[in-house]
Amino acid sequence: MLSVMLYRSARMQSMTHIREQADANLSRYIVSLQYQLDRHRDLPRLLANQHQLINLLENPEDTQKVDTANRYLAWLNTTMGATDSYVIGTNGITLAASNWDQPRPFIGNDYSFRPYFQQAMEGGAGRYFALGNTSRVRGYFFSYPVLQAEQIIGVAVVKVDLEDIEADWSDPLLDILVMDEDGVIFISTRASWRFRTLGYQSEVDGHALRQSYGNHDSPSTKSQLVSRPATSLLTKEDIARISASRRYGAAPLLPLNIIRQEVSEQGDLLLTLVDTPSATSAERAGHYLLQSRLLPEVGMRVAVLANLKPLQTGIFKTLSLGLTFYLVLAALILFFSARNRMKLRHQNELQQAHGALELRVKQRTQELTDANQRLQQEIEQHHQTQNQLIQTAKLAVLGQLSAGINHELSQPLTAIRHFADNGRKLLVRGKIETVGTNLEEIAGLADRMAAILQPLREFARQHQDAGRGVNLQHLRQGFMVIMGSQLEQQQARILWPDGLEKIWVAGDIGRLEQVLVNLINNALQAMAGRSLPCINITVKKKKDRVQLSVRDHGPGLSADALTQIFEPFYTTKSTGMGLGLSISHRIVLSLNGRLEATNHPEGGALFTLTLPSLSPQEHHEP
Ligand code: ADP
Repeated sequence: MLSVMLYRSARMQSMTHIREQADANLSRYIVSLQYQLDRHRDLPRLLANQHQLINLLENPEDTQKVDTANRYLAWLNTTMGATDSYVIGTNGITLAASNWDQPRPFIGNDYSFRPYFQQAMEGGAGRYFALGNTSRVRGYFFSYPVLQAEQIIGVAVVKVDLEDIEADWSDPLLDILVMDEDGVIFISTRASWRFRTLGYQSEVDGHALRQSYGNHDSPSTKSQLVSRPATSLLTKEDIARISASRRYGAAPLLPLNIIRQEVSEQGDLLLTLVDTPSATSAERAGHYLLQSRLLPEVGMRVAVLANLKPLQTGIFKTLSLGLTFYLVLAALILFFSARNRMKLRHQNELQQAHGALELRVKQRTQELTDANQRLQQEIEQHHQTQNQLIQTAKLAVLGQLSAGINHELSQPLTAIRHFADNGRKLLVRGKIETVGTNLEEIAGLADRMAAILQPLREFARQHQDAGRGVNLQHLRQGFMVIMGSQLEQQQARILWPDGLEKIWVAGDIGRLEQVLVNLINNALQAMAGRSLPCINITVKKKKDRVQLSVRDHGPGLSADALTQIFEPFYTTKSTGMGLGLSISHRIVLSLNGRLEATNHPEGGALFTLTLPSLSPQEHHEP
């Protein structure tokens, strides 16, 4: 579709160019032709008034007058640049001529058959172009009647040679034709086309063509022949008439071999003609654009035949230019749309990637936030659990403690009861002194009970400062209040080192008792079933630290226990909670101390409690 459009526009463009060129050349030729003719048109009228010629016509036999007329004509002819000038008598015989002294002068020639002679004899100005009868030179003839006393006594004629115009023409792609009223080519830049016609008979549309082409010209007012279309065929009668006029000598007046004729959409007349330029050259078909203009004043049709060969090159040029343009345009459009598509796709991909990344970051952030929240909750729970566990362990110790206290207090309470009952009886009996002794006993027992309750108060005191000092002897006493009865029950012995009263450690007694109760309990459980179980306690002072070791004589710690013993819930006992040591560990750490577990080289477990030591000045135990 595009290529068809392109082709049509290219063809139209090239055609317009050819048409414009043909038109310009046609105008140029007509101007120069008309100039040539106009220069001589009025010359015969001038001659007709010259007395030399009138004198001759009045006395045709007078050789003197003939000679005068001849010389005058020759002078005028040269001066005016005409080809030939001559005077014809009423009988058509030439009486005097400018070429009187040339090899073949016109004098004596009969021109009565020439239309220009006949026209002048009828009283008007004649004009005609024909092949010179004598000279064989094609020329245009102007004639005018010579009058004397309103009588035509002869005809003055001036001939203009038109062959020069042909010679000046040198455009190989443009042929100039001048045709007469019958359409016979009289002047042609191609010698082989002279005295032929552009006659063409189309079987189908000849009439229409004739019509359309006829309308193309301005209709002639001078003669019907003049309005003949440029490409009409000569009839037999026409040919006979022209032959009789001897206008073109014996030329056969054949039509050119036009094989096709058409009128284009733009109204151009296009011809295809097969030409045989000479006997030796081959036939070749040519395509032409015919443009012609009628010159009714001089009875001519001037035409140009523009070769359409350049049309193809023009079309090709325009087409290739157009195609190149469209291709470049298409390529550019393709390139830019592809680039835009790529850009768009790239942007989409980027956006998608960006979106995906954003989503992932969001998800990841959410995951992290969730994980963090879970961790916080776990830590929170862990803290709660730890606190609960410590509390639970404390209660367990408290249980033991209350059992111990119950045991410790029941004896003095029974004793107090005994002393009180006894005192009342002694009072009734009036033994006042003995009552006093009993009351002293009761007071002593109350003191003892207060002393027993002291560790309990200490134990109830939570979170005491680590900075407070604890005397190891006090620790031993407090511990024995808690564990005494149990040790007694199991017949267990604890071997304490000497000099504990001189040693002070940082911490609070309640928590340290709790740790010690745990360690001794475990030791007793490890040695359960043994007779006379024994626990060794050693104390070492090292610089600013105090090491208190608890050793039993049980099976010792397994490899598993050695690594996990301080983990919460690690237990090997069916009734155990696995919390005692983990809580003890935490308590010792909170007192800036250390709790380590190992096996004694000679068997049994060895727990070492290391605590910051205090000098006697530093301690301020209540
Ligand atoms: P529980 O006594 O409830 O099991 P602990 O934390 O007090 O919890 O003790 C953890 C475990 O450590 C015990 O189950 C036991 O296997 C081991 N263990 C503790 N002390 C000793 C010891 N003196 N000798 C041998 N094993 C011990």
